[in-house]
Amino acid sequence: MAINRKSAASRALVREARLSADSLVMPLFVRSGVRAPTPIRSMPGQFQWPIDELASECETLFRGGVPAVLLFGVTEKKIKTASASAAYAAGGLVPRAVRAIKKAVPDLLVITDVCLCAYTADGHCRLPSTEATLKTLGKMAVAHAAAGADFVGPSDMTDGNVGAVRRSLDDARLEGAGILAYTVKYASALYGPFREAADSAPAFGDRRSYQMDPANAVEALREAEQDIAQGADILMVKPALGYLDIVHALKQRFTLPIAAYNVSGEYAMVKAAAQQGWLDERGVWMEQLLCMRRAGADILITYWAKEAARTLRGR
Ligand SMILES: [Zn+2]
Repeated sequence: MAINRKSAASRALVREARLSADSLVMPLFVRSGVRAPTPIRSMPGQFQWPIDELASECETLFRGGVPAVLLFGVTEKKIKTASASAAYAAGGLVPRAVRAIKKAVPDLLVITDVCLCAYTADGHCRLPSTEATLKTLGKMAVAHAAAGADFVGPSDMTDGNVGAVRRSLDDARLEGAGILAYTVKYASALYGPFREAADSAPAFGDRRSYQMDPANAVEALREAEQDIAQGADILMVKPALGYLDIVHALKQRFTLPIAAYNVSGEYAMVKAAAQQGWLDERGVWMEQLLCMRRAGADILITYWAKEAARTLRGR
């Protein structure tokens, strides 16, 4: 037996990667037109929140040790248009939600998803012209940051999106707002439950043409170089578990913090198996989060953030 595995204390002493609640980010869905939290069928334990309830959930999260949330807007059909103009309304769903969260719990970090798919009539992430897409994303980021968002996360995967958002924020004197870049968003089959959660399946086609091929790794490095040159503050890899080699490669090569997004399908698989009694849910997510850290992720975006913070703080 290896001497350094002899006891719990010696294992702890030589442990290489450690989990801390400080690195957790909880993804949350805010929905207009509902009065009560609406359960997401394919993601047991997750909800679409009305704004008021979202703010109190954020208080609970922060008190429990979760330092940050990543916010997605789920909108009603009637506001979706060809130009996605509701995406940047100052009084829109996400800006109102950010203000409510910041009022309730000012020290909670708020990251917002910046993408047009909740606002376009066809459910796609982009408008027909790249120029219009980038301009609209910039305005959306400004609306979120002006409401108090600490970071914005442009997730549409349009070339030049990080630079366009950075310029728009700077022009609006919102230099303090950071950018979480969806540096590597793979075209994954694991986003299925998210589409129910965000009510965001496109009306036709799919998003494979603008997401990265799971077969590619070197391409991820090129994407990262571009995002860094355009002003990214954090590089994200999504999904997490099948792509830990990419997390590791980015961590080795670049100096920016790396985030790994443990996506909806990764959550749903474990939940489903745990409900059958086939897996120990807590054991699995603890191990998976630890492996994300070991691979080099500084920031863990996970639907288990609440439970993880509670466990890590011994509550
Ligand atoms: Zn999108």
